[in-house]
Amino acid sequence: MTSSQMKDYRHTLKALRTELINSLPGRDGIFIEQTSDALDQTQSAADRDLAVETLNRHSARLREIDAALARIKDGTYGICLHCEEEIGPRRLKAVPYTGYCIACQQRRDARGMALAGQHWFDPDEDYPAAA
Ligand SMILES: [Zn+2]
Repeated sequence: MTSSQMKDYRHTLKALRTELINSLPGRDGIFIEQTSDALDQTQSAADRDLAVETLNRHSARLREIDAALARIKDGTYGICLHCEEEIGPRRLKAVPYTGYCIACQQRRDARGMALAGQHWFDPDEDYPAAA
């Protein structure tokens, strides 16, 4: 990757980061005042759950963006964290904060799904890459 491409990705990541920070739900969304109305309470709890979920998702994304910016700094951006192959430019364009090439990401996703579904899984087993 050329240094000007690296600069472009850095710019894109910084913009994404700003956008994400600006869209973070504020504390108001999470700490809602008590209300005596049961229906309001249910709605408040649902709003709070949603705000917490959004916040969690955004912080996870923020960490990915920060990690990608750190990789730009040390010159390893665009290299898969797992197999150390170059990540395809199309994938980087679509997901500039990714740390994994598509094959490794699919393996990670497969593992994540296995975990989420509480299926037995062997962390040492190498999942075949989806075609
Ligand atoms: Zn890889």
